Amino acid sequence: TVRVRSLSRSFGSRTVLADLDLDIARGEFVALLGRSGSGKSTLLRILAGLDREITGTATVAGTVSVAFQQPRLLPWRRVWRNVVIGLRVPATSNGSSPETANPPADPSRPRNHALALRALGEVGLSDLAEAWPRTLSGGEAQRLSLARALVREPDLLLLDEPFGALDALTRLTMHRLVENLWQHHHPSILLVTHDVDEALSLADRVLVLDAGRIGAEYRPARERPRRIADHLE
Ligand code: ATP
Ligand code: MG
Repeated sequence: TVRVRSLSRSFGSRTVLADLDLDIARGEFVALLGRSGSGKSTLLRILAGLDREITGTATVAGTVSVAFQQPRLLPWRRVWRNVVIGLRVPATSNGSSPETANPPADPSRPRNHALALRALGEVGLSDLAEAWPRTLSGGEAQRLSLARALVREPDLLLLDEPFGALDALTRLTMHRLVENLWQHHHPSILLVTHDVDEALSLADRVLVLDAGRIGAEYRPARERPRRIADHLE
């Protein structure tokens, strides 16, 4: 799904990504670790098509959705309408962010409403479809952000520290949620996180971004519970 070759990105004289190579296979779940400022969000923005000031190549096959660390919600739209925004992104590769995308989806269309409700159901927010974003808790807002990323069933899901602000218990709930989503829709996932345990427990492959490129790669034990469960079903 993702193929990156010799990717470099500088801001002025500061080189953030330097000659980086990365492949993500279809349906693969990859976690990306790295120090603050190492360029993780920069890489995600490039993969999402939001930053084209690069040298080298970054190609993404299929549709892309991004869930940002800070959920960017439209306060004047009810929860389900915030999910509909996720449908706006062009259905081609390297989609742009929900905010800048075109053309506007008509939120009154019953099909969009149904899709939004289904995505909200997947993240356990069905009851809050008619609520206003400002009434949501932090975790609920992050789940809404996830629903908006999922609504178009992307081939590649880019998650930038989506559980950053959550307490430990809510994080665990979100982990189970993402695992379930991954099992049912099987998108490729690139998850940026600071949490090593989270990376090791969720991902097929854990990458560490260091000095502008992938400095280390780990493959957690292959027979993890979800795989074993697959065999039992
Ligand atoms: P964190 O873990 O703190 O989110 P990160 O790995 O996501 O960090 P980035 O946001 O990718 O880091 O930023 C990498 C570096 O690039 C930082 O030093 C940042 O200051 C710089 N940078 C990012 N965007 C810009 C920009 N638009 N203009 C100038 N510098 C930028
Ligand atoms: Mg970041």
